[in-house]
Amino acid sequence: MTLTKKPTRQVRRALARQNQTVSPQRLTEAIMTQGTARAAAVTQGQLTDAELQAWRADFAARLQIIQQHPEQNLGHIEEAVAAAAKEPLRLLTQRAAQAKANATPCQCLKCQHPLTNPKYLSRTIDSRFGCLTLWRRYGWCPQCETWQFPADHALGLARNAPASPYLQEISGLLVTKMPPEQAVAVAQRLGLDLSRCRLDREAHRQGLKAQARRAESLVPLETWEGLQQLARDTEGPPSQPFTLVIEIDAWNIRERDDWGQTKTLREQGKKIERWHWVYMATVFRLDHRGQTAGQRAVITQRGYVATRLGLEALLPQLYREALQRGLAQAQQVLVIADGAVWIWNLVQDRFPAARQQLDLWHAEEHLWAVAHELHGRGTPEASAWVKPLLQQVRNDQTSALIADLTELKPHLQEAQQKKLQTQIEYFEHNAHRMKYKETIAAREALAAGTATAEQIKLANQPLGSGAIESTCRQYQCRFKRTGQFWTTAGDEALLCLETFWRNGRWHELYPHAKTNVALN
Ligand SMILES: [Zn+2]
Repeated sequence: MTLTKKPTRQVRRALARQNQTVSPQRLTEAIMTQGTARAAAVTQGQLTDAELQAWRADFAARLQIIQQHPEQNLGHIEEAVAAAAKEPLRLLTQRAAQAKANATPCQCLKCQHPLTNPKYLSRTIDSRFGCLTLWRRYGWCPQCETWQFPADHALGLARNAPASPYLQEISGLLVTKMPPEQAVAVAQRLGLDLSRCRLDREAHRQGLKAQARRAESLVPLETWEGLQQLARDTEGPPSQPFTLVIEIDAWNIRERDDWGQTKTLREQGKKIERWHWVYMATVFRLDHRGQTAGQRAVITQRGYVATRLGLEALLPQLYREALQRGLAQAQQVLVIADGAVWIWNLVQDRFPAARQQLDLWHAEEHLWAVAHELHGRGTPEASAWVKPLLQQVRNDQTSALIADLTELKPHLQEAQQKKLQTQIEYFEHNAHRMKYKETIAAREALAAGTATAEQIKLANQPLGSGAIESTCRQYQCRFKRTGQFWTTAGDEALLCLETFWRNGRWHELYPHAKTNVALN
């Protein structure tokens, strides 16, 4: 009897190395040949009779259980139908995608030159119905000197990302609406198996795609011809003269681009800015603004702009949105905002002919601040003092208001004088933007039933910038949560994606999703 000696560790390692070098090659070749042959044979997405039969049987068995169960309801039926359908749908999708890949000409995407040295390679894709395996032809373009996968392009797949176009869309949609940890759970309930990491990465990728698309859409602004084209391409000719309303505002977002380096940077004496401005604007035609039965203003069509990349980034975006919404056709442009100096400088620069209006509620707030300073917060004296001054604002008597405030000054202590002076300057700077009387009178006439045709139109004109303020609040619900930090790249990408959704241009990013998603 011979004893077989156990191989030493070195021998075992050498054997393992040998296996590694030999077997994968053989395996790959075998798979390649098999997969290629199978894949090349697919010309249409279909299920076989046997598969359909199996589906029916599975389906019937699942429903049978629910039928007999006294506590299972329609919800259980919905779940069972979806579960039974998942595998057949996955197969069908995989075959249809394979057929589409096979039908894609093997030629260069840039120069259409036939690709040389064509081969097949498989890839795995996460789809709405689960994991798909696809074989795609690829080849070398001798002119462009690149390897290319034309089928990937035809199918809408990104280079190094596993998500199908539907999952690309859903990842972006979910993450712009809620934090990723919630999005994962919601996706799971909807039958989509997405990990937190994949969802995060895919959403960011979609944000970058949105930013690229946005940059492309701004190119026509650079030439005169492009501008003319944009001005013509608005949403149809206006039936009657209209006012274009632009409201502008800003809020701040908390960012952290230097994780783990805070202490070092501070020691080097560098100031770390955590809070950054997100500039926002909304554009709409006054004749697209109406009221609900409950007197709430609704705007049926409006455009949005949001960026955290500074005023230089906001300007072209806002100008483009305004052109898209009818800037070139508008009889009048009305810009409403609070007293921020940067806003009015921007308006002067880009919309010099626009009528500027200070948000009425901001103006009133400044008067209330004086009232509280002089008579105490919430006192009847404060209310009594401010009342006639508020009336002056609403009557367009800004000079009288400023005179009254100035007269008050000598009777005050030094600290109060300073505060009052700040408010006086606020009204002086904004005096020409404080014209509310006609609109208020028109609203009163409308309520009394005595309004002229002109007054009916005027009554619809907003007194404040509530439309953009509510939009800012909505964005903040997602982007400004407790304990949440963003990176510049991360927040701009998602802000951009969210704005495509709100502008009803989602289909520009996801042509398969061509539905009307314009939201207010
Ligand atoms: Zn080429």
